[in-house]
Amino acid sequence: MNRPERVPVPNNLESFWMPFTANRQFKKDPRLFVKAEGMHYWTSDGRKVLDGTAGLWCCNVGHSRPKVVEAVQRQIAELDYAPAFQMGHPKAFELAARLVNYLPSPLDHVFFTNSGSESVETALKIAIAYQRARGKGTKTRLIGRERGYHGVNFGGISVGGIPNNRKFFGSLLTGVDHIRHTHDLSRNAFTRGEPEYGAEYAEDLERVIALHDASTIAAVIVEPVAGSTGVLIPPKGYLKRLREICDKHDILLIFDEVITGFGRLGTPFAVEYFDVVPDMVTCAKGITSGVIPMGGVFVTKDIYDTFMTGPEHMIELFHGYTYSAHPVACAAALGTLDTYEDEGLLTRGAELAPYWETALHTLKGLPHVIDVRNIGLIGAIELESIPGEPTKRAFTAFLEAYEKGVLIRTTGDIIALSPPLIISKDEIDEIVATLAMVLKNLA
Ligand code: PMP
Repeated sequence: MNRPERVPVPNNLESFWMPFTANRQFKKDPRLFVKAEGMHYWTSDGRKVLDGTAGLWCCNVGHSRPKVVEAVQRQIAELDYAPAFQMGHPKAFELAARLVNYLPSPLDHVFFTNSGSESVETALKIAIAYQRARGKGTKTRLIGRERGYHGVNFGGISVGGIPNNRKFFGSLLTGVDHIRHTHDLSRNAFTRGEPEYGAEYAEDLERVIALHDASTIAAVIVEPVAGSTGVLIPPKGYLKRLREICDKHDILLIFDEVITGFGRLGTPFAVEYFDVVPDMVTCAKGITSGVIPMGGVFVTKDIYDTFMTGPEHMIELFHGYTYSAHPVACAAALGTLDTYEDEGLLTRGAELAPYWETALHTLKGLPHVIDVRNIGLIGAIELESIPGEPTKRAFTAFLEAYEKGVLIRTTGDIIALSPPLIISKDEIDEIVATLAMVLKNLA
């Protein structure tokens, strides 16, 4: 693509209250993208930046891909919107029927939302309503995990385990508890793929169940691989053990696959990668490759049938969004699925993973690097923090890498990487070489 025109930084930055951004700092030194194509962004000052993060873990097919662009353009001109309740349009049914093929039976129904946060709220509400519909109305408690991220709505921050996302917002949902996280560098530093040690952390669920009694617990929600809190990869056997404990106590297991869904691990969903089948799977991001907001919740046949055959007042789920299964989002998703399928992208991560892993682990030994970890096409480099400044080193690395033309993401002092699934080996080398240069010079 031709280099886009340089665009002057606008002089009207004040009114936009930016999300998850230190606004005052940003507005002094703004970073603006004006164009994207394939693996790259272009900045307003005319620089090309290699996308090492697929936007925010979402642009899995790369940017401005023709099938997606055309599908969206065609759809807006043809049917811009259809009422979401008591009405439908063909593409919503076509999309649902195609999507359920990516998950094993019995996960064969999908409820559409507009984001990961909405998918989480939907799954939590379905869990509680399902227990009630099958005559187990005392099962209302929800169990999340420390260092879990499940979006920013009240349900999501309640089951989530990030102190800053919770502590400013009042008393949150009642009846929520957390199991411990699985991150353990004392035993698992510099692991390639799934860590060897820590399956026993799943037993913490037994502790919480003993505390509250299984008859009060509706569901457990975890990210198979926690992304936003720094790429926490489950130890071997951990997720299987969670499934066993949930089965033993008749508790639903929800996988939040907002990041891991749609090829991130080299399989369509993490369900297949870890060979563990939960009762619900949330998704968003990669469903439309980030082009139009959309999310979804996959549920088992049993959950769906319980509502459809349950007491009369439950046959309808009293939940939904004006934009559930929005026609333009459905078109974007269908164009995205076509691209995944035509280019084999949902399994491309598995082919590239060995190269990705070897390349990333060359960063071991550079200053301040206390861990390198990877799974599928996700990677993380954890840095030793400057005492009292727990985010400074990684954020400096982010700014330096951006200046050098590579987009990375940081959380605390962890650098997270999740490139579009179309990345080439040369581009993997470029990311790693840039990071090596940045890390060598980091104070
Ligand atoms: N769940 C997980 C696991 C996520 O990673 C995210 C976003 N990073 C969300 C939920 C929230 O998604 P959204 O920002 O689309 O609301």
